[in-house]
Amino acid sequence: MDLKKVVREIDDFPIPGISFKDITTLLQDGKAFKYSIDAIIEDLKDKNVDVIVGPEARGFLMGTPVAYGLGIGFVPVRKPGKLPSEVESYDYGLEYGKDTLEIHKDAIKPGQRVAIVDDLLATGGTMGAAAKLIEKLGGEVVSMQFLIELEELNGRDKLPQYHINSLIKY
Ligand code: IMP
Repeated sequence: MDLKKVVREIDDFPIPGISFKDITTLLQDGKAFKYSIDAIIEDLKDKNVDVIVGPEARGFLMGTPVAYGLGIGFVPVRKPGKLPSEVESYDYGLEYGKDTLEIHKDAIKPGQRVAIVDDLLATGGTMGAAAKLIEKLGGEVVSMQFLIELEELNGRDKLPQYHINSLIKY
């Protein structure tokens, strides 16, 4: 299936010079959404993954159906101040800006095999931060899964120690 056809590109969003990849058009296409989630599940099914982590907010949309399909749990990684219990925090740089991510301290158990799922790999900052959080809690990041990879931003090169799979490359 040509998934690029259902991703909408918006120029100069959220700031001039950025060609934003809008996945809402893919999500609203049932066949494309199911095809995408099934492809991620297929790539993960032999990796003995214990838990899926998804970064706020589009990582929730992609990660929860993957976790459901594999019959395993889902753990949210969120922006500061959103998670109610005790958190681990990590600062990182974004494609446009800077941010902090948090995870519940008791969400990952030492030794658990974790796959992170997000909509898009740009510079790799978000994924690097999510991986650091998981590793601080003793988890092992066995895969990073994306709908979209912006290859010219070389996010992959920042994450050489990880298995990375992406369905659509720009
Ligand atoms: P990175 O941290 O630079 O790899 O940026 C990836 C994060 O920024 C992901 O969580 C995306 O949701 C978001 N992001 C960056 N560019 C885009 C885009 O063009 N479309 C959708 N999300 C984007």
